[in-house]
Amino acid sequence: MKNYEGREVNFNKEVVTEIREKLDEFKKEIMRKRNKKIEIDNEDLFKLLQQLYTLGDDLLAEFDEFISCQKGCSQCCDKLVYITEPEGMMINKFISNNFTKNEINNIKYKINKRIKLRKDIKTSQNYAKIIESHKKEFSCIFYSQERLCKIYSVRPWNCRRHIVFSDRETCKLENEKHPITLNNTPFTGVKQLVDDIENEIYILNDNYKNENYYTLQEYMEKINI
Ligand code: SF4
Repeated sequence: MKNYEGREVNFNKEVVTEIREKLDEFKKEIMRKRNKKIEIDNEDLFKLLQQLYTLGDDLLAEFDEFISCQKGCSQCCDKLVYITEPEGMMINKFISNNFTKNEINNIKYKINKRIKLRKDIKTSQNYAKIIESHKKEFSCIFYSQERLCKIYSVRPWNCRRHIVFSDRETCKLENEKHPITLNNTPFTGVKQLVDDIENEIYILNDNYKNENYYTLQEYMEKINI
């Protein structure tokens, strides 16, 4: 398969095998903890989540030189991002430890602005016009003016797993062409491994928190930072 520059995409299969083995170890360890009814506190949960993020990041790093996702690109930051409870909790902790009061107020302002926009859209006859004139306000609340993610080190799984091999223009919402992601490449083994890592993130949520999923915005509204 060729990428947006016409280069043949390839990857190291040994890395995939190694990550598959690490994931199997991870699953066994979770099973052991459950069978022995070992208590897990939030800090343990965050460490487990970070382990899964690292496996996913290491795997997808194999494709770094072939993808059009680069620092500063934010084409996917205007789409809805679904998260699990532990992911939301880890982001909340990151905000408490790293954001200044001004930054927190700025996030609150963005959250409230989006709540108001949603109400306006519901009551308006001309919601298409509202969406068009407020496009920027529909991007992620953590997307900064410097075109960077304010929570990059703890960004949710769904922001990590989305890699694009076609031109980044294909990611634009109104574009007729679909981006080429792992889903529509012949790399089925890699895609399966990414799905299996994702499944473990859901299992952590189901086992240790709840079975709920939220959009990032919904979660931030819920916890009222
Ligand atoms: S969390 Fe970061 S990477 Fe994910 S959508 Fe928001 S700004 Fe983009």
